[in-house]
Amino acid sequence: TRVLLTGGSGFIAAHTLELLLKRGHSVVTTVRSQAKADKISEAYPNVGKDKLSFTIVEDIAQEGAFEKAVVSDPPFEAVLHTASPFHFNVTDVQKQLLDPAIIGTTGILKSIKAHAPTIKRVVITSSFASIINPSKGAWPEHIYSESDWNPITESEAVLNPANGYRASKTFAERASWDFIEKEKPNFTIATINPPLVLGPIVHHLNSLDALNTSNERIRNFIQGKSKDMDDSETPNPYIWVDVRDVAEAHVNAMERDEAANKRFFTTAGYFSNKEVVQIIRKNFEEYADQLPPESWKGGDYPSKKYGIDNSRCEKILGIKWVSLEKSVVDTVKSLKEVGA
Ligand code: NDP
Repeated sequence: TRVLLTGGSGFIAAHTLELLLKRGHSVVTTVRSQAKADKISEAYPNVGKDKLSFTIVEDIAQEGAFEKAVVSDPPFEAVLHTASPFHFNVTDVQKQLLDPAIIGTTGILKSIKAHAPTIKRVVITSSFASIINPSKGAWPEHIYSESDWNPITESEAVLNPANGYRASKTFAERASWDFIEKEKPNFTIATINPPLVLGPIVHHLNSLDALNTSNERIRNFIQGKSKDMDDSETPNPYIWVDVRDVAEAHVNAMERDEAANKRFFTTAGYFSNKEVVQIIRKNFEEYADQLPPESWKGGDYPSKKYGIDNSRCEKILGIKWVSLEKSVVDTVKSLKEVGA
């Protein structure tokens, strides 16, 4: 399949790109600069231009950013839209989080409808952020699934960066379902809704300081930055997934007809900071002094907490779920290789 992958320099996108190429698809990926394109091509010295090439899209928050990118020869058959800001280092929630997420998503859908009639499937990276209802807290009587929506409002969205990020994902995903309903385009969509994503970093793209947000927790543990972490600090959310499963979900959602017009709540299960620390301690003696002490009671999730239903991903996408131990071990190894 001829595929357009947006945000190819990202953590999830890098793994998705690797899998797309492995399965023989022909990929054009968007990046923000030529330097990023060069770094990605260096990682694939034996892959020809017919299988991997680049389009520069500097800022997805600009109206019409994808007008040219959706057109190619040979024409695209599928789009995987992963580009969206995921960090909390913002001063203007509207401009830095909401606009790129919402305008980026609706913009690419409009451009596809207008200029790329051969595209039949668009897979959009959404998030558990658009499923969770944070005001319910641990919510033990509830089981989260694809039928849940974060009820966050526009006025709550701009209160702080955490709300801003969750709202950016919620509003962008809602806008894409509204687009399908109102515009009745020639393509179907599927959304991938992961919670915290852990897993090995792609070495040619990352330095320890410019790490993707969701792996910062593991980096901070092995660098001793969380040694004195408060006992009461629990991870939020309590659930996670490995990046390789998220990549596979994207590619399978593109390849499989049955994925049409469905959300996919891609989660492997629960995790806690305490378990992450135990896994690092058991597998990497060299970081023992950096970690919170063995007596550490903190970092656990409450015993009564929300349930999760990830069965649709297993049934329709065939995902098997990488274990937390493997994910943490592979993440630490990958961080070690860049000097942690
Ligand atoms: P990264 O920060 O590694 O990737 C984000 C990507 O989006 C980068 O390629 C980045 O480009 C690009 N991007 C951000 N803002 C813009 C913009 N204004 N214009 C053009 N490109 C932009 O994070 P992840 O790989 O983790 O995130 C990928 C997707 O997955 C996002 O949609 C995120 O919301 C979603 N997600 C991630 C989770 C996680 O735990 N990691 C959980 C749930 C969802 P550049 O690096 O050049 O700035």
